[in-house]
Order: sequence, then C-alpha cells, then structure tokens
Amino acid sequence: MTHLIEKPTQRILVLGAGELGIQVLRAMSQQARRHSQTQISVLLRPDATHLALDFVNSACGVGDEYQDFFTDDASVVSWLKSAELLPGDFSDVPPGLARQARAVREVAIQMLAGKPGNPELINQLLDKGQPVRRLEWVAELPGFRVTECRRDNNIDALLEPVAMALALLLSGDERKYIRQCEAHDCTLWFLDTTKSHRRRWCSMALCGNRMKVAAFRARKHQTG
Ligand SMILES: [Zn+2]
Repeated sequence: MTHLIEKPTQRILVLGAGELGIQVLRAMSQQARRHSQTQISVLLRPDATHLALDFVNSACGVGDEYQDFFTDDASVVSWLKSAELLPGDFSDVPPGLARQARAVREVAIQMLAGKPGNPELINQLLDKGQPVRRLEWVAELPGFRVTECRRDNNIDALLEPVAMALALLLSGDERKYIRQCEAHDCTLWFLDTTKSHRRRWCSMALCGNRMKVAAFRARKHQTG
C-alpha cells in the first residue's frame, strides 16, 4: 500500500520496500534530483523482512543514487510511525533523534557485516530505553496480563525497539541468513528466508534482472 503524506514544504511518499517500492524509490529520487527545489522524501516502509534490516535500509544507493531518509528528526519519527513503532498521532520530535538514528545505523551496518562494531551504543539504548512492563489484572479475561509500554518520549526509548531487534538478529539463528544485495550499485540488506538460502538480490525483478542483463551484455561484448 502506498500513500502520500502532504506537508507544507515536502512530500513524503511511504511505500513498501518490495519490488514496486524500490522501483518507485529510484524514479522518485531521479525526479527529486531533476527538480531540486521540490523536496521529495521517500520512506521505505518496513516490509517485514526484519525491523533491524529495514532500519539500515533507510539509507541506500551509491554515488548519485545515494539517499538517506533520516534527513531530520521529524523524518525519523515518520519512519518509526511507518514501522508501527509509534502511534500515528505521535507528535513529539526529540532534538538529536536523527543524529542518534544515523549513529545506530552506522554501528548496525558494521555489525551486520560481521565486525564487532560498537555494542556500547546499542547497549545504551537497551538499558535507558527499555520499556516499562507491568502486571495487570484484566477483568474481562479474567486473569493477569503483562503489558509493555514505551518508557517515555526520549530518544533512547524511541530507538530501543530497533536496538532490540538488532540484538536479537545478531545473536540468534537467523544471523546466518543476513545478506546484502550483490548488485554493485545496491546496498540493501535482506534476510534470505528462501528454502535454498541462495538468494542474491534485494529484488529479482529489479537488481536480479539488471545484473543478469549486465552480465549478458558483458559476455556478448567479450565474444562479439
Ligand atoms: Zn539490490
């Protein structure tokens, strides 16, 4: 599902990171470059491959196509809303959120690539931002239920779910399926949940076909 959020100074297109989403993203980024006065932000709506990977995919592309969707603190809040980590009517925008989100993303990328990175930054979020858990009596059940809610509206609490998703991914069984698209000009990460675990591209329809065409042309050039 795709929808536009109209804001006075910018247009934010929210779309899925599926094949169509990435195609639209590319078209939009080219359009944004051609009409530099029109600020168009495209948010890749998390598409359920994995929250932590969706988060690192908030910056993608290389060279002229590089796009960072965390342009300011409000854009990070929009992303968190699109990931359903914040309610739609959430209006607090803590200053410094984008700076911290970018720092977390940088560390996350190192860790996903198999480097030790800096777990301190992640641990700080896990510690200071940890949600509040309460035991509640629910009359309708009737019985007890544990509820979890955001500690506060500070940066640590806002980014904690992402830090937790990353921590679980890096320490769990799924870590062996973490992949980065093999296309030279694509930086998107994904979780290879295919049966054969031989997925190479973020999207077959886009990067897979592009790279196949490029390889075909290269072979033809060599033999021709
Ligand atoms: Zn790709």
